[in-house]
Amino acid sequence: MAFLTLNEILADCRSDEAQPWAVPAFDVINMETVAAVVQGAAAEKAPVIVMVYPYHTPLPQWPGLVALIRAEAERAGVPACLHLDHAGELEQIRAALDLGFSSVMIDASTRPLAENIALTRQTVEEAHARGVSVEAELGHVGSGDEVLSEAEAASRLTRVEEAEQFINETDVDALAVAVGTAHGLYRGEPDLDFERLRALSQVVRVPLVLHGGSDTPDEDVRRAIAEGISKVNIWTEVRLAFIEVLKAGLDGPVASCPLHEVLAAAQAGAQEVARQKVRLLGAAGRGDYHG
Ligand SMILES: [Zn+2]
Repeated sequence: MAFLTLNEILADCRSDEAQPWAVPAFDVINMETVAAVVQGAAAEKAPVIVMVYPYHTPLPQWPGLVALIRAEAERAGVPACLHLDHAGELEQIRAALDLGFSSVMIDASTRPLAENIALTRQTVEEAHARGVSVEAELGHVGSGDEVLSEAEAASRLTRVEEAEQFINETDVDALAVAVGTAHGLYRGEPDLDFERLRALSQVVRVPLVLHGGSDTPDEDVRRAIAEGISKVNIWTEVRLAFIEVLKAGLDGPVASCPLHEVLAAAQAGAQEVARQKVRLLGAAGRGDYHG
């Protein structure tokens, strides 16, 4: 099977202006998490973006994880994009291109604008030459456990006036924007800047990506999609569901622990969360399962 690019898998998200929806993008780390998100998407007849994150999975383990993703996606017949999440270096991008990823993210969001543009531009040149799509990040989506002053938090948000320049100079296929979400769990309540998001969606002609989809209230996620988001990244809530079931299953004598059953139950727990997210994003029933 051929993995879809972001351009292909996100193409229909905004074709009906009255009913925009988004494609879920899940990080995976092993067989159970791959099965959870792929089978979860398949059960909802949705397309899915399956992501490998270099911080979780060291490069030598990528071929094995990719083989798992490919086998599971083929078995489920799910329209899927194989995406590299938050690559910081060209070495990682090139490894992904060699392994058949259909999409990559280059994250130079903590660097000065000119450097972000240059590294993204280089990634786009190499990826597009292989028919692979590229996501980049402008502004910076941090971590929910960081303690930031109001000024620090504001300084990280994506600037509308830079976004158009960034797109034009990089030719990137999708843009991750910082509008108030954060990775992981929030210390307090997230405060999304929907006006900024709306303004960004008016000047940016490529799909917008929301990182930090976990622990963000459902109503905020729905509104973000209405204001222009087409891809929502999710890991933490899938991880927590997995761990919760795993922990309960390990609560007995080690010698008699049926590990395969415990892992299968943890997968089922993660899969249920994946299905909830698919439905929240409006992606259920949106996948072409006959193509
Ligand atoms: Zn992210």
